[in-house]
Order: sequence, then structure tokens, then C-alpha cells
Amino acid sequence: MIQTERLILTPETPELWSIKDHSGNTLGQLGFLHDLFSIELTESSKKLGVATEAATAWLHTHNTAQIQAVKPKSLESLQFLKKLGFTEAKHHLAWHGQLPENQYQQLNQQLGIATDSIKTPHHPSACQLIDCGPDVFNRPARLTPEATQAWHEMQLTATKDGVVLQLVSAYRSPKYQAGLIQKKLDNGQKLKDILTVNAAPGHSEHHTGRAIDLTTPESEALEEHFDQSKAFHWLNEHAASHGFTMSYPKNNPDDIIYEPWHWCYQAPDDN
Ligand SMILES: [Zn+2]
Repeated sequence: MIQTERLILTPETPELWSIKDHSGNTLGQLGFLHDLFSIELTESSKKLGVATEAATAWLHTHNTAQIQAVKPKSLESLQFLKKLGFTEAKHHLAWHGQLPENQYQQLNQQLGIATDSIKTPHHPSACQLIDCGPDVFNRPARLTPEATQAWHEMQLTATKDGVVLQLVSAYRSPKYQAGLIQKKLDNGQKLKDILTVNAAPGHSEHHTGRAIDLTTPESEALEEHFDQSKAFHWLNEHAASHGFTMSYPKNNPDDIIYEPWHWCYQAPDDN
């Protein structure tokens, strides 16, 4: 068995490994048969770095074995294998034991963010996402299956109490987060100031698929005066019973500005 931050890989046979998250949900499988290295994922786990994380961990533990891969026909698969450290030989790809850096660390490097200067902790990404929207701007939105259910239940309970909770933002990928920061840098803002509003890629809670930014009709989105609204007072009293807590209160240790609109879901049995 191989454990990573988000995944558990278990050999079903020596050639076939199941990929699950820590809650036991099956996300896909990894195979290594007749030199053919392959990964299949469920739809809701694609493009979340699950394949890279699973492959990296598997390659790491098989470091001593001579690992080759059949040259794939699809360009996407070829790029994936190259990203994992495979290089092209004559008729196949060969692995030389070089493992890639985490994507969020690469993104931080590109932005000029020094990893050791980041006060907000690193948060593991979501393993799977489902639709939880639309948001208040009628855009699609996604969260983990557990957070989606908790959010919908909380929203419904609030409605019954005469309180309207609206979604402003849910899942944002580390790459999207990097884009937000890059845009502000391009507009001349200082990195130090930006990081008090936008957490560095890999350090935001939005890529966990458990964080939501909320608003209500009587308030402007992402404004501090949200804390004067009926919705905020309702959240203070009832959000915890739905598993949501406010991540960035006044003077938080993460050095993020006061964000009364930002709430994060934590499953009751999680530590
Ligand atoms: Zn937020």
C-alpha cells in the first residue's frame, strides 16, 4: 500500500493498483503490465492532479525497477509521461528516477513567491469535484461531493429561517489562483500586498473544494460589511452545525485580511 497526501494506492494484483481517496472513494486505477504504464481515472477526478500524484508516488516506490513505457499515441499522454520524468528512447520511453516538483510549488516559483515566506499553510487539493452551482453570477461552480451536500443543506436551512445565502465562489484551481495573482502583479500591485488578499497557489482553501465565498442580496460581494448582514449573523449561529467555519477572522495567524464571507467545510470525522 502507498499513501500520499490525498491518496491511498493498493495493489489488487502486482500489476493493477486501485487509487482511492482517504475516505475510501475509488478514483481510478494504475496499471503496469508488459512495460505499459497506464492510469484510468473517474470523470470527477480528472484534471485535479490525481494522476500525477498517484504516478509520482508509485514511481517513487518502484525507483529501483527499470521502468519503461510504450510511446503513447496521444499527445496528452506523452506530455503527462514527460512531466513525470520519462524521456524518449528509440521505440519507447524510459524513466530515470527523476520526480517532478509539485505543481503548486512550480506556480509559486513562477510568481516569485518564496515558499518559506508563506504564512498560510499548504492545503491538499480536492480529489474529486461535482457541480454545486450555479453561483450568484449564474456561473457553474464545483465543490467536493461532501461539501456540496453540506452547502445545499445549509442554504436550504437558512432559506427556511428567512435568510438568503448566495454563492460567490467555490472551487478554484491552484493554476487559476496563480492567474489571479499574476493579473494583479501585471497591474503594478506589490506581491506582499496581494498575498494578504489572495493566498499563494497551494495555500488557498479554494482548491480543497471545501471553501465557499458567500453573499446575500442586501450586501455587496466580498465586502467587509457582509458582517453587518442578517446572513452573517445566521452563519455565526448555525454554520458550525453544518460543518462550516469562518477561516479568516480578524487578526488571523495566516496574515489574510478579515474575510467574513469565506467559510470552509470540514467533515465531522476529519481531524
Ligand atoms: Zn474565499
